[in-house]
Amino acid sequence: MENCIFCRILAGDIPSRIVYEDDAVVAFLDINPAAPGHTLVVPKEHFNTLLDVGVDTIGPVFSSVKTVAELVKTRLEADGFNLLVNQGRAAGQLIEHFHVHIIPRYEDDQRGLMPPKLDLGDDEMDQIAEKLRSG
Ligand code: 5GP
Ligand code: ZN
Repeated sequence: MENCIFCRILAGDIPSRIVYEDDAVVAFLDINPAAPGHTLVVPKEHFNTLLDVGVDTIGPVFSSVKTVAELVKTRLEADGFNLLVNQGRAAGQLIEHFHVHIIPRYEDDQRGLMPPKLDLGDDEMDQIAEKLRSG
């Protein structure tokens, strides 16, 4: 995928700060970090989104995500971390090569990440749950 920035990073055509590599993934620092140590875990194979990743591949990829998350937490002495996948443009996915963000978090770092909470009411909540259960 010659037009894909992450494929070009994986090929070594664009410089990046690689922090981890195994058979399934490469992990490098996000160029525009939400926190110090914000890391992207990127499968070596190009998939546009999470939903394009095969069932046999997603396991090894998330196993690597766990390894990198552990590394980030331990080496950066983080108190926790957020894992984030932006799926599709509506969700903020800018790079169409599936990747998982690992964002280190510290007690009282005052960095909110979730969209503001909604008060939907019981009826709407019930309808949404039903929509998800059926079909
Ligand atoms: P998305 O919004 O697609 O989930 O996240 C893409 C991420 O890739 C963004 O957080 C952005 O800062 C990062 N990014 C974009 N271009 C580059 C690049 O050339 N190098 C690195 N290291 N990160 C990049
Ligand atoms: Zn790619």
